[in-house]
Amino acid sequence: MLLLRTLGVLFLCFFTGPDQSYIKSLPSYRPSPPVPLRPQNTQIQIAVVGDLMCHSSQYNFARQADGSYNFNSAYEFVKPILSGADLALGNLETTLSGPGTTYSGYPGFCSPNAYADALVDAGFDWLSTTNNHSYDKFEKGIRLTIKELQARNIPFHGTFETAAQRDSIKIWDIKGIKIAILAYTQFSNIPLPAEKRYLMNFIDLPQVELDIKKARKKGAELVIVHYHWGDEYKREPNPYQRDITQKTIKLGADFIFAGHPHVIEPVEKYKSYGNTNLDSGLVAYSLGNFFSAQNWRHTDAGVIIKLNITKNAQNNKFSFTTEYVPTWVFSDRVQDKRYFKIFPAEWAYHGWLDSLSMTADYAKKIPLKLSAVHKNKMKQAADDTKYVMELYRARPQFAKVAKPQ
Ligand SMILES: [Zn+2]
Repeated sequence: MLLLRTLGVLFLCFFTGPDQSYIKSLPSYRPSPPVPLRPQNTQIQIAVVGDLMCHSSQYNFARQADGSYNFNSAYEFVKPILSGADLALGNLETTLSGPGTTYSGYPGFCSPNAYADALVDAGFDWLSTTNNHSYDKFEKGIRLTIKELQARNIPFHGTFETAAQRDSIKIWDIKGIKIAILAYTQFSNIPLPAEKRYLMNFIDLPQVELDIKKARKKGAELVIVHYHWGDEYKREPNPYQRDITQKTIKLGADFIFAGHPHVIEPVEKYKSYGNTNLDSGLVAYSLGNFFSAQNWRHTDAGVIIKLNITKNAQNNKFSFTTEYVPTWVFSDRVQDKRYFKIFPAEWAYHGWLDSLSMTADYAKKIPLKLSAVHKNKMKQAADDTKYVMELYRARPQFAKVAKPQ
């Protein structure tokens, strides 16, 4: 009986809980802050770079002892900039074909798939695949490249498996802002048979017009056009580039980014045409080489254009500011072979390079020491880029140079 009574008390204690002091330790209830009456503006950052080349010395650098390839270390110092953007774009100027292939550099580019892995690792979100080298390995090369990019979930535009695929325009949703990115090339080094023209997008203005119209119809608030054009090693646009630019603006492109000359050409702002929500657009005639083995003056310089876009929540109007990050590609022999690394070129203005612990190769931890010649080349690249960027605009904004981590 006593036992039953004891159990009963315990039972009651269990359910009523004699000690409720712990409730006092709970944070007191605070009403959530009032919901703002006005919706917030949306801000996005788009980072755009130039040509992503893969010469044979680049894949030789990437070859590991076990026969695999790894290009990641080349992007070490620009990765924070690219992955920090909401959308990072570049032009893939080679073909991919999978293991078991004989890789090749110029003139018929074919690179290890690890080249695409490194782009993903560096933070690229979208690639243009149409350029004078897209057809270097013919239809098979175009199809295999598409397959490898799809396997890595990298969106791209400019090469297609079917005519239907070519005619369907995709819209990207970046923080609720709807963007179309369309890519076209002026030429292919190897001509395509007429019945296979759908494999690649060429600069054909009626086609560009049709695509922009489709993009707007599908809700694109901003249209970016990527062109591959111009004269190699020319530091200003030729009459063809200027003519196509004017016509593309009239077709309603909001931003035009381009490549191929292997050197940087100026940027220009223009009055928007047809987009009532954007006052002015921007054309970058050539963004130069972002990653390549061309290591003479001007070809070793690249630039990251950062487009900071704001959508006003009140009236849906867009405004933007631009920032430029000049880049320089280290490509020289270190111990046993030639190594590559892309630097924010303005680091050469500061004393940071000497105190930076740099490796040419992650796996082997081979130290990378820049000579006075390298530092001068890097500084020259920054100076040249600032000069060319300032050619057509009075006051370009250069990004505040971030100190290396
Ligand atoms: Zn090209």
